Parts: sequence; C-alpha cells; structure tokens
Amino acid sequence: MRKSLHIKLVLIMVLLIVSLMVVVGAFLMNSVTGYYINDFYQQIADAFGPDNVDFVRNLETATQEEEDGAEMVETVLSAYAGILGVDRRNRNFFVLDGATGRCLGGSAPAPEAGVTVTPNISEALLGRPGFDSSVTADYMDAAIPITRGGESYIVYILDSRETARQLNASMFSLILEALALGLIISVLLSFLLAKTMVDPIQRLTDGIEEVARGDFSRKLEVTSGDEIGQLTESFNTMAQRLEATIDELEKAEQERKDFVANVSHELRTPLTNIRSYAETLDDGVGDLPGEMEHKFLGVILNESDRMAHILQDLLTLSRFDSGRSELHLAWFPFAQAVDDTYQAILMDAQNHAHTVELAMPDDLPQVRADRERIMQVMMNIVSNAIKYTPDGGRIVISAGRAGERVWMEVDDNGIGIPQGDRDRIFERFYRVDKARSRQSGGTGLGLSIAQEIMLRHQGALYLVDKEDPGLTICMELPVAGPGEEAAHEG
Ligand code: ADP
Repeated sequence: MRKSLHIKLVLIMVLLIVSLMVVVGAFLMNSVTGYYINDFYQQIADAFGPDNVDFVRNLETATQEEEDGAEMVETVLSAYAGILGVDRRNRNFFVLDGATGRCLGGSAPAPEAGVTVTPNISEALLGRPGFDSSVTADYMDAAIPITRGGESYIVYILDSRETARQLNASMFSLILEALALGLIISVLLSFLLAKTMVDPIQRLTDGIEEVARGDFSRKLEVTSGDEIGQLTESFNTMAQRLEATIDELEKAEQERKDFVANVSHELRTPLTNIRSYAETLDDGVGDLPGEMEHKFLGVILNESDRMAHILQDLLTLSRFDSGRSELHLAWFPFAQAVDDTYQAILMDAQNHAHTVELAMPDDLPQVRADRERIMQVMMNIVSNAIKYTPDGGRIVISAGRAGERVWMEVDDNGIGIPQGDRDRIFERFYRVDKARSRQSGGTGLGLSIAQEIMLRHQGALYLVDKEDPGLTICMELPVAGPGEEAAHEG
C-alpha cells in the first residue's frame, strides 16, 4: 500500500507540474509573439503618424533635380531606419514599384526571385496600407503605398521575427529548467506528503490487524483532526464497541452454560432421591413394614412435585425470555390484591408463630395489570419473608401510592441477606443458603420470575436498605399499566 500511494502522489505532482508548465509556457510564448507583432505595427504606424511629419514629407516630396525617385526613397528610409526599427539583419526595408510590386531597392539585397507578394503587398498595390500578420506566420511585414514626384511606390518593411524566435527559444529553455526544478521539488514534496499520509494509515492498518487477531487492548493515538484522524477515532470507537459486544456475548454464553449446569444439578437431586427410594421399595417388596412403604412413597411424590415445580418455573422463565408470555391486563383494586395475599399466608405465618402486620391507606386506586401474575409476585416475596425468618418473627406488609405508581413493601426481621449477595439474589438459581432453600421447597427461581413480571409491567422489584436485621423488599408498578405511564407523565 505504501508504495502505490507514494507512486500515485508522485504521478499526480508530476502531471500537475508538467501541465502547469505547458499551459504557462504556451501562454507566455504566445504573448511574446503577440507583443512583438503589436510592437512592430505600432512602430510602423508611429513612423508614418503625425509625430513624424518630416519623415513622411521627405518620403513623398521629390526634389527638383532628382532622377531616380526610388533611390531617393531608399535614402530617406536609410536615414530614418532608426524609427522603423530596421537593423538590416532581422528587419529590412524595400522600395517596391507601386504598380508592379517589383523591388527597386532596399536595406538588403532583394531575393533573386524578387520580393514575395504577400497579402499586405497586394493590399498596397490596391492603394491601401497592408498592416496585418498572423501569429503563426514565420515573418511579419507592412506595406505602405506612397507617391513621390507623380510616381507611386510601396515602402515595404519585412521582419523575419528572428528576435521573437530567439526570445521564445531562450524562454523555452528557461521553462524547461523551471520544469526540471519543479519536478525535483514536487517529487521530494510528494514523498514528504505521502509520508504524513501513509504513516497514520499504516498505524491504523496495524491496529486493525491487531483487532483482527482479537487484541482490543491498544487504543490508537489520534494525531490529527483531519479525515484520517476521524477515521482513527471511529476505529477506536468501533473497537471499543466490538470488545463490549464480545464481552457481553461471552458473558451471555457463560450464563447459558451456568444455567444448563444449574438446571441439571437441580433436577439430579430429586431424581436421585426418587430412584434410591424406588429401589429400596423394589428390593423390599413384601418385607417392608406398611408404614415405611407409605413414608417412602410420600418422599417419591414430594420429590416429583419438586421436579414439576422446577420445570414449571423454568417454563415460565423461558416464556418470558422468548416473549411468548402475554400479560392479561385488567383493572382491579390494588388494596384487594394485597389483602388477599395477606389472608392467604396468614395460616402459614401462624404455623411459624410469626406476627404479620398489614398497613395501608384506604384510598389505594385500581390498577391496570395482570392480577394473577402480580399476586404471584406478592405471594413470592411474602412467603420468602416467612421462610427466611426464624419462627416467632415479625413481618410487616405495607402498601401505598407514590404519584402514578403504587407499591407494596414486605419487611421481616429474619436472617436477611449478606451485603455481598444482595446484588445477586435476582439471578436465576441464586440462593444464599442452598440447603435451607431446598429444605423449604425453594427453587431459587422465584425472585427471578418475580422481577421479570415486574419489569414486564414497567414496574420494579428491589431491596430496600435498612439498618435492622432482616430484609425489606419492595415492588412497585404504574397505576395505568405498562406503556401508558409515559403518556400520563408527558
Ligand atoms: P427460593 O426458591 O430459594 O426462595 P427465590 O428466588 O425466591 O428462591 O429467592 C432467592 C434467594 O434469596 C433465596 O434462596 C434466599 O437466599 C434469598 N431470600 C429471598 N427472600 C429472602 C428474605 N426475605 N430473607 C432472606 N433471604 C431471602
């Protein structure tokens, strides 16, 4: 890449310089020729103009004793050669016969074949001055008809343009020198330019290669604010996002593996129990006392219930995950749901000698939610309070309204949750004390399901900080149900 960019830049610079020089050269050389032609005609016009009346008078006024008018014209022209710019090398004058165009004399010997009849001479033969020359012709001339002593002559000035040619030639070699110098400078510059462009691109390429190899650690330095700088910045952002996405994917993959391992583990324990009790029953058919057989069968039934329970919870979660579980929204009194929960657990709480208090205002509103699922959440958090509070504990259920939301809080003075575990208890299968949870029939999925349900309602389920021993957990949900809360606020 480095090479090709260098070559491209050098080529661009060379083409630029060459085309610039060609255009400037052509323009300059053309101007020089144009200027030279203009100057020539201006000089001739001035010579025959009002400023040089002497010259014209001398040309046209014949002396009395003169025999050869042409010779006299030539003498006058020779005398005034300076104002005509005649140098007898590149510029000469000729005296032509006004009727035939034949050369009668001049500052240089006339060609053997005579002076070529140019368009200007033809013009003068018709009695009009010939004052025209093309830029491309290799000569320039002027033919001015005059009369002297009744005879008509043509004063013909011919310039070989050699001076212009020489000037152009030296300008051409100057342009060539400038071109050569320009080329050397441009090649050097293009190398410098290519380096400033290629180096950051090379760094970017190295960085991309590293990312391609899976190393995201290196952040590329942004050295300029130009397009390459922007590209480097975008690349850094992209690499960061890619790294975050890969981290997330790895985390999700790890969670999936943990989940499968957890499910297998959770199902294996009841299954092992069922199998060992069934084997014992099978081995001792007829030998075991009826009472023991009954007890063993009870264990088998219990364990299969537990498996069914776990599978049911997993199914619920998988429905939430895949979005197949729909909420059946309907308006119902929130206070009624809280009270129903309270009534439902009262007996269980009394069995554990807990005191349960219920505190809520009379004016709790109706809410729009899936009543069955909300009751499931309420039951889950109140049962947990009963389960994880040693017998004789105190459980307070309170509820209220805060703006457009209602809430229910359950506070217990039980074993609580160690600080380090607080963040994780909503994770699937996470239990602080696995043995205690299993003993009480817990699957470790209850709070995960409860949190999913609350989130689907655009509500929340969270632990409340408290100083006293035990745990306070709070659930809240929008009165108007999911999706409409924003509209109320807006
Ligand atoms: P489980 O079926 O084990 O009760 P949950 O998801 O309902 O599962 O609860 C997860 C874990 O959170 C429990 O295993 C327990 O360790 C902890 N936990 C929940 N509620 C309480 C509480 N009121 N007091 C102390 N620990 C609790």
